[in-house]
Amino acid sequence: MNYVPVAVVTGATRGIGRAIASLLSRKGLACVLIGSSAESVRRVRVGEQLHFTHPFQKHRALAIDLARWPEWTGESRFWGVDFSGGETAGAVAGEAREGSFRLFPGPREQLWETPGAHYFVSLLVNCAGVSQHSLSVRTGPAQIQRIMNLNFASCVSLSNLAAKQMLHTVRQRVPPQHCVAPYVSPCIVNISSVLGAPQMAIPGTTVYAASKAALSQYTRVLTQEVTSWGVRAACLEPGLVSGTDMTNELGADAQRQLVDGLIGLPTQTPEDVAAAVWQVYAGENAREDMQ
Ligand code: NDP
Repeated sequence: MNYVPVAVVTGATRGIGRAIASLLSRKGLACVLIGSSAESVRRVRVGEQLHFTHPFQKHRALAIDLARWPEWTGESRFWGVDFSGGETAGAVAGEAREGSFRLFPGPREQLWETPGAHYFVSLLVNCAGVSQHSLSVRTGPAQIQRIMNLNFASCVSLSNLAAKQMLHTVRQRVPPQHCVAPYVSPCIVNISSVLGAPQMAIPGTTVYAASKAALSQYTRVLTQEVTSWGVRAACLEPGLVSGTDMTNELGADAQRQLVDGLIGLPTQTPEDVAAAVWQVYAGENAREDMQ
C-alpha cells in the first residue's frame, strides 16, 4: 500500500496560496485547493499550481466562498474539478473531471478511491485572505464581516475540521517507509500577517490587522490544545509580499506607506512564503529536500 499525504490549501488559485500549492504538489502531496468561485477554480492548471510526481498523486480544486461563513460549514459537498495524472510519474497530461466533491472524507471514506493507495490528511494551509481599502470609519458592516469571515472565522472552522481528520491520521499509524513523501506529524499552518503584531499600527489596516492578530493568537492557543494529539499548529506572519493581486490592489501610495511602516523588514516573494510553509511542515526533512 502507498500512503499519500493530503494538503488542503485555501486561497490557492492566486498569489501566495498558488505558490504554496505548486511547491506541495511538487513535493508529492495530493492537494485539495480552495478558491472562491467556479470561475477561479476553472483557472487552476496542471503544470502551474499543480504537478504530478508519482502515479498515486491526485488533486482537487473546490469552489467555496469562505466569506459565506458560517453557511458553507453546513455543506458537505462542493462544486469542483478533480485532477488525475497520467500513468507515469511526472506526467503533465491527465484527466480533469468536474463534479461535486467532499472537502474532507466522511467516516470510512477516502478522498480518492485508487487501488494501492491510501490518502491521509496531513496539512492544512489557511491562506485565503482579503485586505482593507479604507480607514476604519469608512469601512462598512459588509466589508467588516467579509474580512472577519474570510481572514479569521473560516480559518477556525477549517482548523477544527482538519484537526479531527488529523487525529484520525495519527491513530492510523501510517508506516513512514510506505509514505510517498516524508512522513511528518500532521500540521495546520495559518498565514497571518506582520500587520497583526501588537507593535504594528498602520492607518488603513484596522480591521485587517485585527483579523490577523486574532488568527495569530488563535493559532498560539490551538497549538496548546492539539499538541497532545500529535498534531502541530503554526502561524506565519509575512511582511510585504511582492507581486500578488492583494499587494498590487493597494496602489502606490498605500504600498509606500506599508513599506515605510515595515521598515527593516525585507519584501518577500510568494515562493519565499511557500518555502517557509514547507520548512514548518517538513521540519528536519525540509533542509536536505530544498537543496
Ligand atoms: P491574493 O489577493 O493574491 O489572493 C487571495 C486568494 O484568496 C485567492 O486565491 C482568492 O481566491 C482567495 N479568496 C479571496 N476571497 C475568497 C473567498 N471569499 N473565498 C475563498 N477564497 C477566497 O492574496 P495574497 O496571495 O497576497 O495573500 C494570501 C494571504 O497572505 C492572505 O491571507 C493575506 O492576508 C496574507 N498576507 C499577504 C501579504 C502580501 O503582502 N500580499 C503579506 C502578509 C500576509 P479567488 O481567486 O477565487 O478570488
